Amino acid sequence: MSDLQQQMFSEFEDKKLFKQAQEYALDYIDSHRDRQVFPTEEALEGLKAFDEPLPVNKGNGADILRLLQEKGGPATIPQIGGRYFGLVNGGVIPTTLAVRNLTDYWDQNAPLYVTSPVNSMLEEVTQKWLVELLGLPNQTVAGFVSGTSISLLAGIAAARYRIFKNNHWDVNEQGLNGAPPINILASKHAHGTVIKAIAILGLGTNNIQWLDADDQGRVIAESVPEMDASTILILQAGNVNSGSFDPFDILCDKANKAGAWVHIDGAFGLWAAGTKQLCHLTKGIEKAHSWSMDGHKTLNTPYDSGVILCKDEEALVTALQTSGAYIVNSVNRDGMFYTPEMSRRARAIELWAALKYLGREGVDELVVGLHERAKQFAAEIANVEGFTVLNEVVFNQVIVKCADDELTQQTISEIQNLRECWVGGSKWEGDAVIRISVCSWATTEDDISRTVASFKQALFAVKSKR
Ligand SMILES: *Cc1c(COP(=O)(O)O)cnc(C)c1O
Repeated sequence: MSDLQQQMFSEFEDKKLFKQAQEYALDYIDSHRDRQVFPTEEALEGLKAFDEPLPVNKGNGADILRLLQEKGGPATIPQIGGRYFGLVNGGVIPTTLAVRNLTDYWDQNAPLYVTSPVNSMLEEVTQKWLVELLGLPNQTVAGFVSGTSISLLAGIAAARYRIFKNNHWDVNEQGLNGAPPINILASKHAHGTVIKAIAILGLGTNNIQWLDADDQGRVIAESVPEMDASTILILQAGNVNSGSFDPFDILCDKANKAGAWVHIDGAFGLWAAGTKQLCHLTKGIEKAHSWSMDGHKTLNTPYDSGVILCKDEEALVTALQTSGAYIVNSVNRDGMFYTPEMSRRARAIELWAALKYLGREGVDELVVGLHERAKQFAAEIANVEGFTVLNEVVFNQVIVKCADDELTQQTISEIQNLRECWVGGSKWEGDAVIRISVCSWATTEDDISRTVASFKQALFAVKSKR
């Protein structure tokens, strides 16, 4: 046995490393609520400790953990807490974190039934539960990917495959040179990852016909041009700024009549379909062909959790085909056929755990809770002089501006400096805006009030300096 083997066997045996990691992790849970929502300057400076040449000699696990604890931990964003409102960053359900912890030790590889029967089973169950919860067609299949970016790539690849195939063109074999045209319709508010997927798939971003949207960012149904069987229509459940939803019911009917393919980017918004109070927002989604969503945003699973849902199994699987003489297909589910990746984490287990923990009732409570807190924020900030709320708060997003762009931008910087909460900026109808995404179960009414107070303090400080 080599020295390295000996060392690592003893690390498994005495378990000190694992206990140490657990202790640090539990410290983090205990302290995160009291921490500032963005690392201090000192903590950021401390990251320089990692900037060293590739080590020549073997290291020591305990030292590595200590370095992370001392220099890494302070430079994390405590987004498992309740006052992080940047991007659309979900918090985390404790059970799913614990499940991740356990299953990390299993270190499963998820491509095939034979590489992980337990993952295969839980993918199958999660697929069934998602289809039921969201009210999608029975034949819908799910692939478990790293996030909506890859889910969009997979869904639009399925659309591309099917449309070409219907035109007697096998894109897998014949490629794109000389292929018949594909007509892409997407909202002018489409997320950057939609555009990325179109570019990667060789469909060409110059070929996108941009759809007009109303003042909330919803596609205006009447403005959508004629579609045909070569059209991919990409709609959105949850605008990344305003949280608004496109009119799926009307547009899916129109698309289906024309034989077009509809893909819905529902990264964070598709979960509205699993609630009683907000499911009116997703009316008609079941008439689409494929859907993208995340576990790690609205559902609050740990990061690295996305899903591609597609009712045309053959199109999805053929678009993402893999073969190899060593691949052992099984009569059970082989998850890799539904994803672009082959080796991957058994990430569906955390999504399964979230649904098992919450149940329909808990999904409703969690999602509606985010909506309630967003409405609370909008109501409270509207009462603070100097801030204007710009959107109808239909879901979890609020956009706010100050008197002019410069004041808005300076206020964002000041809010970020105060570190009581974290929010970012964006553009809305040409103006600089502050965007607030309520995306953690851990956000309480008090967190919202503290956030509003911090906004007020920041604006006051900026104005005093003028
Ligand atoms: C976050 C987001 C994406 C990208 O999803 P990732 O999980 O970050 O890859 C795409 N579309 C919308 C609307 C989003 O909010």
